[in-house]
Amino acid sequence: MTDRAALPENAHKLSGADVLETLSVSASEGLSDHGVRESRARYGGNTIEARKKVQPFVVLLHQVKSPVVYLLGAAAVLALYFREWTQGAAILVVLALNSAIGFGTEIKAARSIEALRTLGTRSARVRRNGKVVVVPAEDLVVGDIVLLEGGDGVSADIRLIEASNVGADESALTGESVAVDKSHEPVASDAPVADRASMLFKGTFVTRGSGTGIVVAVGPGTQLGRISQLAEEAQPDDSPLEKGLAKLSGQLVWATLILTALIAGTGILKGEDVLLMVDSAIALAVAAIPEGLPVVATLTLARGMWRMARQNALIERLPAVEVLGATTVILTDKTGTLTENRMAVRHLWVPDEGMELTPAEDDGAPDTPEQDLENRPLFGQLVEVAVLCNNAALGEEETDHSGDPMEQALLRLGERTGLAQRTLLALHPRVGETAFDASTKMMATVHTDGTRFFYAVKGAPEMVLRRVAFIATADGVSVMDDARRAECINRIETLGLQGLRVLACATKTAETADENPYTGLTLLGLIGLEDPARADVPEAIRGCREAGIRVVMVTGDHAVTARSIARNVGLGSEASRMVDGPKLSGMDGSKTGKLLETDIFSRVTPSEKLALVQAYQNSGEIVAMTGDGVNDAPALRQADIGIAMGQRGTDVARQAAAMILLDDAFPTIVKAVREGRIIFGNIRRFAAYLLSCNLSEVLVVGIAVLSGLPLPILSLQILYLNLVTDVFPAFALALGEGEKDIMKHPPRPPKEPILGLVQWSAIIAQSLVLTAGTFGALFAAELWLAPDPGELVTITFLTLAFSQLWHVFNMRHRRSGMFRNEVTRNAWVWSAIVLCILLLAVPAYIPMVADILQIVPPDRDMWLIILGMSVGPLAINQIGALMFGRFRS
Ligand code: ATP
Repeated sequence: MTDRAALPENAHKLSGADVLETLSVSASEGLSDHGVRESRARYGGNTIEARKKVQPFVVLLHQVKSPVVYLLGAAAVLALYFREWTQGAAILVVLALNSAIGFGTEIKAARSIEALRTLGTRSARVRRNGKVVVVPAEDLVVGDIVLLEGGDGVSADIRLIEASNVGADESALTGESVAVDKSHEPVASDAPVADRASMLFKGTFVTRGSGTGIVVAVGPGTQLGRISQLAEEAQPDDSPLEKGLAKLSGQLVWATLILTALIAGTGILKGEDVLLMVDSAIALAVAAIPEGLPVVATLTLARGMWRMARQNALIERLPAVEVLGATTVILTDKTGTLTENRMAVRHLWVPDEGMELTPAEDDGAPDTPEQDLENRPLFGQLVEVAVLCNNAALGEEETDHSGDPMEQALLRLGERTGLAQRTLLALHPRVGETAFDASTKMMATVHTDGTRFFYAVKGAPEMVLRRVAFIATADGVSVMDDARRAECINRIETLGLQGLRVLACATKTAETADENPYTGLTLLGLIGLEDPARADVPEAIRGCREAGIRVVMVTGDHAVTARSIARNVGLGSEASRMVDGPKLSGMDGSKTGKLLETDIFSRVTPSEKLALVQAYQNSGEIVAMTGDGVNDAPALRQADIGIAMGQRGTDVARQAAAMILLDDAFPTIVKAVREGRIIFGNIRRFAAYLLSCNLSEVLVVGIAVLSGLPLPILSLQILYLNLVTDVFPAFALALGEGEKDIMKHPPRPPKEPILGLVQWSAIIAQSLVLTAGTFGALFAAELWLAPDPGELVTITFLTLAFSQLWHVFNMRHRRSGMFRNEVTRNAWVWSAIVLCILLLAVPAYIPMVADILQIVPPDRDMWLIILGMSVGPLAINQIGALMFGRFRS
């Protein structure tokens, strides 16, 4: 017997039986609860830091390493150099405050995104206490018997003890991108990891076939765990939004530097006081930069992801949040997305005879008296094959069931008709399998009674029909002639028209277990399964139509069934075009246009799905596509938004997707699109808001310096506006619920940037109006009040501050009403306004703050000017919006 501790390194060269013996585990029973506890105590649990946690230090560095900080830092140094102590210290304090807010927001966002990831964790099918159960991947222990099939992620190092046509993608471990063949045969003891065909390694994927294996290493003891740098997955990329904002910040810094140098240079040349010019330059520098922008952006994205997760849409790639809102076509599969995926057998057909099954009241399974089948052997044989050729397992509770819901329905049928899987397998042990393949659309298992081999085949009826040579009838087996074939096809259509998913079962006996399972078959009959349409789908599809989004069904199922389900959920119309998958392979440029008007694509294989996604993209669409199988991965990656199914999807599909539907439901996609549109609108709103506020400050300072007027707003005051008061309305805008009719309009053009020409024009026009208001206040005060410099700057500062506050109401969508819109309906906006009024009005009456901000308590006349000149710009901008509405976002 081998040393247990050396197993991870030796298991590949031992026989499966040896490994089982070494770990004292029975393949048919698996570990007991006690065995699991003991193993965990001895070898540890199955966790390694799969994803590197975001380190606080890195986040802090991220705050400090921004051009904005450099610029403000330089301004502070300059201020200190010229002995402007208060100003220098205040800039530093503000800088620290801003970094602290940024740090807090970013770390919270990072942690919440990390928490979100755990929602989508993997599970594994294991045999414990003689039963198949599904456990979280972290709960695997050494000695667990794991059942694997194509699409599963491998969550521990596993020695295969049974394998049918297993292939694995080990690129994560070995860099080899071609799938490698696996088998249960031992390999040479000196084989390198890449050649250990008898092993499956943590972090890799099973791409095809099915098998059983025993866990020999978990967590840090696995090959992956040992290569620690692999475990630290690459950090996810910044989203396009974040990249765009970083670029914008950089550009603004440069523009500011040039502008500052120009203005200060001109001033000094004109003989102005150098100190005054430095002051102005600092004011300009801080005015130009929207310090709050990155913080609000991070918050919006993180919050958007949470809101989506609460609605069962888990975002895997950040860019998806923004792209979702631009989706123009959704390619959706049928089973489980448009339907409930709660299958029940409703019809059995054997030659010349059909049997309707009514659902029983308890669990929706058909209620068929056992003796019914005993007296009707043809039906018995049909059910027997359906139960044998099956990879699902029924547990005691419904939650313990595992495997494909369709196969579970077949097993339930077996239980109710006295043909339970356990009993049948005891009589005819399984000795081989040809796993289900989405392109052949069939699967086969081989069984033996000790002397001969018995092949059980089930699959898409037209595929099986092509392979059958005989048909079992009441009078015995006869040759499959054209008349019989036509009768079958007719029956398939009839069942399909009722919306049933149809399977055909066939069989053969042979002398060996390694024949091609799909030749010389005898057809036993057809099984019609019902899968009710989801009740909430029709409304979601109507919603998509209103939102200008096309919904196209792309299914592996038969055309007739697909159309019937489509009709039930209100997809397409009676006149809808339908195209069969195989027609897609000859797709050439000239015919694509017409083809893309199709509403239903049936019998589509995964490679045809990929071609379809590309064809839609070439015609300028933004494509969201759902997928669940291993072979869907390329199409999911190709789509603008690949959507994997959380419950039914394979790990491979999830890995390739940008979004995971935790409930597998179509309406969730529509909710996510809506959320995507809201987020995009909010980002646009707060970016436009912050930038127009900044621009107005630059214009106020720039114009004053160039025309020799006293500075209407001082650098500390600008900082106060940018970092304290502007941020709250911006946060409030980011928390908005979007326009009421956001899903009643077509998607935005895909290439439209967050801030395009239209938005920039509005930003410039609006900030000019804000600037005019401030100068209006300056002139009015000079004219009526003859103020001292302290009073004057108080008036102009507060005028600009309040006009920026009211400016938030200009951020409504051009289609929304002037008084009732998404901004006025947003309670956060009103709270932000109250808070900012307190933050602006109160400092003037608190001597210490007033001193630092260099303002005085305003009297009644000053307040009148401030309010008049700050409300004025709001009115003008609203009138402008009415006249030039189309120039607004
Ligand atoms: P959708 O793509 O909308 O989910 P689907 O589930 O019917 O539809 P596939 O999973 O590609 O698509 O299946 C295609 C066909 O293959 C099915 O209609 C069925 O006839 C057959 N089939 C599916 N699963 C099995 C299986 N486990 N064993 C045998 N045949 C199967």
